[in-house]
Amino acid sequence: MIFNKSLDNVSIYEAGKPIELVVREFGIDPHDIVKLASNENPYGTCDAVADIIARKSVSAFVYPDDSMYELKDALANEYQVVPQNIVIGAGSDQVIEFCIHAKCHTNSKVLMAKTTFAMYEIYAKQVGATILKTPSDAHNLDEFREIYKNEGSDIIFLCLPNNPLGECLDAKDVYSFLDEVDSNTLVILDGAYQEFASYKDGAKKIIPSEVINKYPNVIYLGTFSKAYGLGGMRVGYGISNEEIIKVLHKVRPPFNITTLSLAGAIEALKHKGFVQMGIEKNFSQMKRYEDYATSKGLRFIPSYTNFITIYMDGFVSKDVAYELLKLGIIVRDMTGYGFNAIRITIGRDEQNSKVFNALDLILSDKK
Ligand SMILES: *Cc1c(COP(=O)(O)O)cnc(C)c1O
Repeated sequence: MIFNKSLDNVSIYEAGKPIELVVREFGIDPHDIVKLASNENPYGTCDAVADIIARKSVSAFVYPDDSMYELKDALANEYQVVPQNIVIGAGSDQVIEFCIHAKCHTNSKVLMAKTTFAMYEIYAKQVGATILKTPSDAHNLDEFREIYKNEGSDIIFLCLPNNPLGECLDAKDVYSFLDEVDSNTLVILDGAYQEFASYKDGAKKIIPSEVINKYPNVIYLGTFSKAYGLGGMRVGYGISNEEIIKVLHKVRPPFNITTLSLAGAIEALKHKGFVQMGIEKNFSQMKRYEDYATSKGLRFIPSYTNFITIYMDGFVSKDVAYELLKLGIIVRDMTGYGFNAIRITIGRDEQNSKVFNALDLILSDKK
């Protein structure tokens, strides 16, 4: 069968391995498995959020409120914007898809960092757009400027902070870059880990209301999957000016968020203390990873997120990841990104201790 030609060079997104797979393949008890591959919140959500999701299940036969009025209202309050500035997606992933579909076609160009969130490229290639990447792995705005000046671009992605490397640009540098971008180029600021970055260093904090007031060509993306602990509910959002949001609604399918997702997200916004606790613990546990890596002579990338990328100097990262998997620990091998490194989501105290014990075994075996 002949398919859309554009799909010929689209690769399938490789999601972090699910617990079920490790249970099946290695016969490990699901309770003993430590899943640190998808940057989920290891503290989950608070009881109030779990309760409301359970209670709403009796209304699961009714379509959700497609206007998503309550969630938009809550987010508008949170970010000091109006509901007309907001579009909701099944994860911010879906908002990325809306942006690409609204703006790009076969002759379009999409500019991004060399090593960044894989979905930018996948969605752009689906519509046949040309991908432009800066030469350095991490975000380097001078390289973005250079390519943009020479080639132009319909969309520019900045991932702040960047997944899978964990580095983050300063907000003031992002703003001065935005000053130089043409009003017909859509700039997507992906803030999936902004809650973490702005806690660690205020200089990284992007303020969506300021950005969209000053730059009519920018959209800010946020998600409930990371700091808010609702990855399984699939809720993300885009904040931009009304004109852009209106167009994005043209490509949004009806009822794209479930009733349970809406209720969970609305409730989660009311429990900031819980989220804050998770963020604080994240960075105190991250310190343990930094100390561990240093003690083993392994380099790591200082991270503004809830994961850390550690180079496996002297070892083969793919093998290390597989040995960890056999011990029931799921991490992300970075070989596919061209890095001899593993990316580990920062887990709970006892999960991280398991990782260190397992790495002790694996790294002493191989050297
Ligand atoms: C996790 C993540 C997202 C979005 O995840 P959703 O679950 O689809 O909201 C977006 N961008 C980056 C960089 C991410 O890591």
